[in-house]
Amino acid sequence: MASEASEPKDEARALIASAHALVRELIEEGVSEFPRAAAAEVASVATTAKAAAPAKRAETRESPKVSVAEELTPGPEIPPWGDRRPELEEVQNHLGDCKRCGLCEGRRSIVFGDGNPNADLMFVGEGPGEQEDLRGLPFVGRAGDLLTQMIEKGIGIPRSEVYICNIVKCRPPRNRNPLPAEVSACRPFLDGQIRAVAPKVIVTLGKPAASLLLGRDVAITKIRGTWQSYQDIPLMPTLHPAYVLRQYTTETRRAVWQDLQAAIERTRA
Ligand code: URA
Repeated sequence: MASEASEPKDEARALIASAHALVRELIEEGVSEFPRAAAAEVASVATTAKAAAPAKRAETRESPKVSVAEELTPGPEIPPWGDRRPELEEVQNHLGDCKRCGLCEGRRSIVFGDGNPNADLMFVGEGPGEQEDLRGLPFVGRAGDLLTQMIEKGIGIPRSEVYICNIVKCRPPRNRNPLPAEVSACRPFLDGQIRAVAPKVIVTLGKPAASLLLGRDVAITKIRGTWQSYQDIPLMPTLHPAYVLRQYTTETRRAVWQDLQAAIERTRA
């Protein structure tokens, strides 16, 4: 029995090792974004490894805790729209009834996004909370009410004129921060939304969204209010409305108001 199981397991391990070696090689070469061909190669090795992995592993003391196929993280999915500008609908259809990460297990809704598909201004938050999960719409809880006020009273435009979405589309359990694997599984959909909407300005709400799009860990209170850019789109990092609710001072409200004024003015420049 043991020898029947060990052959495919060894084969799968060898495939995984070669995929890891390929990834290491690309990193050593300074490749920060995987070219399509390399990503496809890694993905195909992952698929082969999955096929080679024993369907049911004999329960021995040496059995690893995770399956061999799970040991490989195949890297970000290459979406079918590639470099072209998709319609939002195409991005949402491709997301489908997503099961790409564990967040699908506890969610009630996939909170894709809300608003004008041709908006000049796009807001990116972190992830749905309880109300968002219940209603299937981003920013509809307490923080969302404040965001809506900031848009409608602060900037002076209807909320329906902007586009709002999050880094992850499903609610993390007990509103914990999304894990790196969850963020990475959802990343192609956020990028697809940005490509589809092609806003004149992106406003990131809070540290996680700014850090993700800027590709580095940022100190949000330092960076807010300063122009950045994401894929040649001007990006204004501001405070998350939940933070503003917690620190409900004239100073934090004025800071966000200033950032939003700067953002809307830039869309009109
Ligand atoms: N916080 C977020 O980051 N997103 C939401 O949709 C709601 C709260």
